[in-house]
Amino acid sequence: MFNTSISLLKMIEKAGFEAYIVGGFARDKYLKRDSYDVDVCTSATPKDLKQIFKTVVLPKEKYGSVSIIYKKIRFDITTFRKDIKYENNRRPIEIQYISNLKEDLLRRDFTMNTLCINSKGEFIDLLGARNDIDKHIITAVGDANTKIVEDSLRILRAIRFATILDFDLDDKLRDAIKNNGYLLENLSFYRKKEELEKIFGSINAKKGINLLIDLGLDRYLGVSNLKSVKPTTCALGVWAQLNPSSSYKFSKNELDIINLIKKFKDKKTFTARELYDNGLYVPLIVAEINNIDHNFLARTYMNLPIKNISQIDINGKEICTLLKINPSIKLKGIFKDIEDKIINGTLLNNKKDIKSYILKNYSNE
Ligand code: ATP
Ligand code: MG
Repeated sequence: MFNTSISLLKMIEKAGFEAYIVGGFARDKYLKRDSYDVDVCTSATPKDLKQIFKTVVLPKEKYGSVSIIYKKIRFDITTFRKDIKYENNRRPIEIQYISNLKEDLLRRDFTMNTLCINSKGEFIDLLGARNDIDKHIITAVGDANTKIVEDSLRILRAIRFATILDFDLDDKLRDAIKNNGYLLENLSFYRKKEELEKIFGSINAKKGINLLIDLGLDRYLGVSNLKSVKPTTCALGVWAQLNPSSSYKFSKNELDIINLIKKFKDKKTFTARELYDNGLYVPLIVAEINNIDHNFLARTYMNLPIKNISQIDINGKEICTLLKINPSIKLKGIFKDIEDKIINGTLLNNKKDIKSYILKNYSNE
């Protein structure tokens, strides 16, 4: 990925423009962390990029950002720009293309996100990004209050980075977030969910949750009882504890899982039958919330004699032959019965035992 990114920078340079990897990828490279999303900034405009890359250039938004697929990797490429005017404390409504890297970096959110890598693979650090990264601190580029008021998404981005990277917020940024937390009420629930998902899904989620509470943001997020939430490996475990506002949109699959977690929320253990019916995924999330022994659940599940009905060592045709009956609704009841007995361990899952059980219990009906 790194080599492909460098070769992409060289292509843009060959056409006479400047280009750098910027933001998360450069920051994570410096931190020796894996990163899967490459952002590039360049003096080339979207029009210029269309000329350079024959692959389809899809406009990502109106404001000078395009996504291209180069050697099977997706790159977000943004033309050096200055944000002139912001709307509703969120996206800029007016931008101006510029030719200067430093000016482009000044419009960015946090100093650590201004680190660049040039086409030789060298770090370009015009605003002291490495100094902040070394100190594990997140500072705003320029005046913290202005940056937060300009774009309230930056509040949640700051907390997301503090959580995932285990960094601290510098005092000025902290104060700016505290004083302007109410702006989150105007941030779309789509964006809120996107950021909260990353915070809740982090192994360091507790830190993020505490920051949201300490900075008084929970009341503006449309969630209740954040204070009593237990972090779980999967973000859905946190959502299930939160009663989020109906403005948060979840997929059917997400809702199914959330509802199942809620259904089991008071459980202190799971029976073999419950693990057979529900699988391990949801019970393990409930186990994190209710301090149930993970290993016990995993062992009980692994020791289930069957994981689904098709593993029962007899089929419908064999049962009909055995009982000299035609296939009927009765078969379903027999299967349900032997399934139960096998799961709770009172009947072994082998044809011989199953046949004698069926003969004993069903032959005279
Ligand atoms: P990651 O990709 O790891 O989530 P990132 O820092 O790369 O983190 P992106 O959303 O990919 O975040 O944005 C790329 C870069 O664009 C950021 O590093 C930052 O320099 C700038 N940026 C993104 N969103 C904002 C914003 N809301 N305000 C100011 N600058 C931003
Ligand atoms: Mg990125």
